Amino acid sequence: MATVKEEQEAREHAVRRIEREKPALEFGSAWDYAPAPESRDHLRLEERYGLFIGGKFVAPKSKKYFETVNPATEETLAQVAEAGPADVDAAVTAAEEAYRKRWSRLKPADRGKYVYRIARLLQEKSRELAVLESMDGGKPIKESRDVDVPLAIAHFFYHAGWADKLEYAFPRHTVSPIGVCGQIIPWNFPLLMAAWKIAPAISCGNTVVLKPAETTPLTAMLLAEVCQEADLPPGVVNILPGAGETGAALVNHARVKKIAFTGSTDVGKIIQRATAGTGKRLTLELGGKAANIVFEDAPIDQAVEGIINGIYFNQGHVCCAGSRLLVQESIADTVLQKLSDRIATLRMGDPLDKNTDVGAINSKMQLDKIRELVACGVEEGAELHQSSCAIPPKGFWFPPSFFTNVAQSHRIAREEIFGPVLTVMTFRTPDEAIEKANNIPYGLSAGVWTDKGSKIFQITQKMRAGVVWANTFNKFDPTSPFGGYKESGFGREGGVHGLRAYVELG
Ligand code: NDP
Repeated sequence: MATVKEEQEAREHAVRRIEREKPALEFGSAWDYAPAPESRDHLRLEERYGLFIGGKFVAPKSKKYFETVNPATEETLAQVAEAGPADVDAAVTAAEEAYRKRWSRLKPADRGKYVYRIARLLQEKSRELAVLESMDGGKPIKESRDVDVPLAIAHFFYHAGWADKLEYAFPRHTVSPIGVCGQIIPWNFPLLMAAWKIAPAISCGNTVVLKPAETTPLTAMLLAEVCQEADLPPGVVNILPGAGETGAALVNHARVKKIAFTGSTDVGKIIQRATAGTGKRLTLELGGKAANIVFEDAPIDQAVEGIINGIYFNQGHVCCAGSRLLVQESIADTVLQKLSDRIATLRMGDPLDKNTDVGAINSKMQLDKIRELVACGVEEGAELHQSSCAIPPKGFWFPPSFFTNVAQSHRIAREEIFGPVLTVMTFRTPDEAIEKANNIPYGLSAGVWTDKGSKIFQITQKMRAGVVWANTFNKFDPTSPFGGYKESGFGREGGVHGLRAYVELG
């Protein structure tokens, strides 16, 4: 029987390293990127953060704190309070009081002004928020600066506009809020997910208790400070960092009227069981395994950029990542060669460096999960291609990779790896592409690349996915609803559809 070391060596042999091609003209190191680190001097980090309840930071009744670390350096950034069941109860009570006495009675236009004020304050602090998001979560600063933070702000602006126009969103209905909403978010887009949840809820007149993910609570703490600065009535937004048990206590709290959850399908199922028969409203935004379909008539260079953006954006920690590439057989060799060439140019490293393309894996736990699934892919007979980029000495890293020789039945083709790992399969006809794309328990997103507009309409109509991008990937906008089918959950966030989850219609 092979030892663990022998097995590891065998796996190493199976990897095809993607090396950067030697340029035709040799410039030595003259064209290398100089380091361009974003400064963290302007960031004020507290040593310890309490729970944000009733407009104040308070010590947890649980008396527990946990550390949040920078996944790129493993340095401890801060201690954060962990909310227990008594804290959840205190936050729900604060939210309920704020709902009854203030928020649901406020003129909708005034509600909108508060939400607008939050958006403006976030805008003022956008640099601080971007740096903190990259430090706490590991994502490259160019993504937190250009995607996460501006989109989070856009969600507040957009929903501020709806606050006094809800009767136009739902004509011929009386529109009223629901009450206290419990909201649980993951670690891949911490501030953005908080904005997706809080902005529509409070704009519609509800109050919220939000639980950020255990590994990324810090931008939510800054958002709590913004709520204070905006003079938001105490208790309208409550933020409770904590672990899975905190989330479970929130889900099971009797006076919470609605749960909005984004995270894994497994936890989504637990929550669905827990809320069944309670009368609580529920929206679930869960996992995905999106097909990114490239036809032979596609603009190939653009498609390769779309593939890169689809899977290596945010280290592949994206529920709607284009993690299954389906490429038409006639162009597969060309696409794979171009993909390898492009991967060889991706820079992995310090998330605060403005030239970094691929940052750190969010946690040791997630890194272990990626490694386990990748090892399983190799064992099942798929061929692993991996960037030969340098791995920083500290922190959690996984180089951009893709698998060929993948069968539909492989675990790597069916399960969410949630890392920078793409699986590549081929197809011959459009029907085969659709069949393969839909043959999965998930249905969150998909991509189609072709030169023909008619083919886009033909294919996208047959895709069982909540969002289908055509000749682009991973594009988000607060006006556009987002959500899934099948095991990717139900309910929509964003746009008019997203408001529906936060109102009662009479
Ligand atoms: P989880 O689904 O466990 O976490 C999402 C959120 O739910 C976190 O705030 C988490 O808290 C909380 N939570 C955990 N258990 C419960 C519970 N029983 N009741 C209520 N809330 C709970 O995802 P993980 O972070 O564990 O990631 C596991 C896998 O899930 C990933 O590898 C990835 O495949 C997938 N995932 C998918 C996401 C998506 O957007 N589709 C997002 C994140 C993960 P805490 O952080 O303290 O555990």
